[in-house]
Amino acid sequence: MADAALDALIDSLRCLPGVGQKSAQRMAYHLLQHDRPSALRLAQALETAVSEVKHCARCYTFSHEPVCEVCLDEARERQLLCVVESPADQAALERTGSYRGLYFVLMGRISPLDGIGPRDIGMSALLERASDGVVQEVILATNFHAEGEATAHVLSEQLRARGLKVTRLARGVPVGSELEYVDLGTIAHAFMDRR
Ligand SMILES: [Zn+2]
Repeated sequence: MADAALDALIDSLRCLPGVGQKSAQRMAYHLLQHDRPSALRLAQALETAVSEVKHCARCYTFSHEPVCEVCLDEARERQLLCVVESPADQAALERTGSYRGLYFVLMGRISPLDGIGPRDIGMSALLERASDGVVQEVILATNFHAEGEATAHVLSEQLRARGLKVTRLARGVPVGSELEYVDLGTIAHAFMDRR
């Protein structure tokens, strides 16, 4: 019993990371069989988020306003710019409370195997942002797996070529880990020990 609407739902669910055909089917059946109110809520939440959540013009993180709260915060140290891969990583660093500078969110990382090069992440926007004459140190806080390290390497060369001081979160953060899942104390130390 093929049903075009059901097939379309399963197809759409497959856009989620880690969701293949089988999981998508299970989700679709679950929503339609057991939880139609939640399915409607999900549809509405998706529509609202997609139309209302935009990118901050300065740091590129998710924001309702043209410029986000962090970028507008006068108490932040404007000479420090911390580069992260995603808003989730930024949130992880913010939770430590140990960093009071500004951010730049790449919204991705260099991944040659997936065909994602420097041009596909926010590199040129970052170079422009970091060259505003106010930023004195760029802290690279991309993740500690091969792709995050490769991204940090490329960014560091480009930023240094522009005469900027570049540091990298280093000691303490386990190799191969996503910042999002590293404990707060470890990240706080990694900030202090950056070099
Ligand atoms: Zn911002």
